Amino acid sequence: MERALFILGIIILICSIIFGFVTGNLWGFISYIAVGIPSSVICFALSEILGNQNNIKNQLYKMQNDYNKLIAKKICLNCNESYDSDMSYCPYCGRTETKVD
Ligand SMILES: [Zn+2]
Repeated sequence: MERALFILGIIILICSIIFGFVTGNLWGFISYIAVGIPSSVICFALSEILGNQNNIKNQLYKMQNDYNKLIAKKICLNCNESYDSDMSYCPYCGRTETKVD
């Protein structure tokens, strides 16, 4: 989507320049450029915003994954130490019976 908007911006810019030349007079050219440049800038800005939004979304997703891994810990009933949930016994005291946090 962001790439499509960027390409659309370039197409609008090129078309406004071409149509401006085709009119054959200075005011026609200026009026096409005056519409074309802001339109393409809006497309570039939207493309940039969408790109940033996707980056933020990906980072949040990664952080959520890291957080889920972090909180998936067991707490030893004997020594109250926390350790990875994929371990079958407490690495601190060796007790196997646990509660899941
Ligand atoms: Zn323990």
